[in-house]
Amino acid sequence: MPSATPPVLRIAVIGTGPAGLSSAIALSALPDVEIQVYERAGELRELGAGISVNHNGWKVLELLGARKGVEGASTNPTVQRNAYTGEIVDPGQPPDPTNPYEVRRVRRLLLQNSLAARVPPGLIQFNKKLVSVRDLGKNGVEAAFEDGTTTVVDLVVGADGIRSVVRKHIDPDFPLNYAHQVGWRCLIPAERLKHIPDLPLTTTSWWYGKAKSVWISPLDTDLNNLKEIEFTARVFNEPFVPGETVSWGVKASNERVFSRFNDVDPRLIEVFKQVPEGNWSEFAAYSGPAMESLVGWGKLVLVGDSSHPSAGGFGSGSAFAMEDSWVLARSIEYARKVSTTGSVPTVLAEALQIFNTIRKPYYRRMFDFRQSQKKVLEEVGRKDYDDFDAALRKRFASDGLGAKRGKGFLGWVYDGDIGKTWQEFVESDQARRAAQS
Ligand SMILES: Cc1cc2nc3c(=O)[nH]c(=O)nc-3n(C[C@H](O)[C@H](O)[C@H](O)COP(=O)(O)OP(=O)(O)OC[C@H]3O[C@@H](n4cnc5c(N)ncnc54)[C@H](O)[C@@H]3O)c2cc1C
Repeated sequence: MPSATPPVLRIAVIGTGPAGLSSAIALSALPDVEIQVYERAGELRELGAGISVNHNGWKVLELLGARKGVEGASTNPTVQRNAYTGEIVDPGQPPDPTNPYEVRRVRRLLLQNSLAARVPPGLIQFNKKLVSVRDLGKNGVEAAFEDGTTTVVDLVVGADGIRSVVRKHIDPDFPLNYAHQVGWRCLIPAERLKHIPDLPLTTTSWWYGKAKSVWISPLDTDLNNLKEIEFTARVFNEPFVPGETVSWGVKASNERVFSRFNDVDPRLIEVFKQVPEGNWSEFAAYSGPAMESLVGWGKLVLVGDSSHPSAGGFGSGSAFAMEDSWVLARSIEYARKVSTTGSVPTVLAEALQIFNTIRKPYYRRMFDFRQSQKKVLEEVGRKDYDDFDAALRKRFASDGLGAKRGKGFLGWVYDGDIGKTWQEFVESDQARRAAQS
């Protein structure tokens, strides 16, 4: 029989990115939990510029009660262009103002503020860098921090990003490799770009070159009152430079970024010139294979980027992080109901198995899709490609990362609804249990 009053579950969440904050929200809302969040930085940091929120992101923000205040410009249409000639390869889809779940580009800070505002006060401890975790058997798990302190809990939630320390304990041999991709992101005051002819700032545009791309997007909901424009530049063949190639969010000089883009359309060159010095942040991408398991020891679980180190998550990594967190909370809640003993180890073992059952195949599918696209993407990046426009069209026909996203194609990512996925799991699990009894 399930226990009437479950014992208190002690949880340590590591990290305060979208995964850590949403875990703090979802898990602290459960009854009978003691939860602390540990962040290595001295404060909440947001290193990016804009972020795309698709149907899947809006849905989970609603479930977390954190949608309010998160707003931005629709990225429909996203005009796809040849970066050298400016020629439009694909005009994109028209916007649908009646759709409350339409994809929008929002300031990352808005997302962070909205999530942070839902975290109960006093939960987050800063300057706490996790260095290791240790299995204490029936006594739980010990988390050790760089400052010499430790804490003992029942569950450690690894929301500690792409270079996760928690992941190292689940799979010590997990290979994380430099993906030869680097992205630079910044915001530019809209006023500085208005003089550029034939560069509509109210429309999102994606400019593709050989082994590189540029993204320009408004972020303001009111397109008549644009304050800042987001500018992202990426290269897909950046060599590794010891001591220079880093993981996440370091400053980059204008010269460093522009040196990779000095052969593009004059309009783009003018945009590069208008970036205020000091605005660029650099992100070197690292990736590994799909994880064999997102959980370990019956006490460790990975959420967000730590669980799928894939060098890009279809522009939906934040949504994945929030979905993981919400499903983790539901899994614990459900396991408490169906667990035969109600003891903490039994509940956790059941909960983590449910979490792994739902999220692992999802990420596996994502990795498989990426693998299937690798050849096409490499082909587009070839320096000697004669007909670059044809290569671009091939890419759009193939990977759907541009104009076709959602609406059935890659709909399992962008049109996702984690609440529905959860409901389907509960229904099938209950049918299975009924058949067994
Ligand atoms: C160029 C670029 C563009 C992107 N565009 C999009 C987009 O359009 N839409 C989208 O949804 N996503 C996008 N993403 C992905 C998105 O940024 C990530 O998926 C998301 O930030 C993952 O959240 P997270 O909380 O898992 O990890 P992170 O945001 O990396 O947060 C991890 C946190 O853990 C802390 N931490 C790490 N190690 C430790 C430790 N040992 N101890 C304590 N704390 C620790 C870190 O300081 C950090 O606060 C983009 C990413 C890049 C690089």
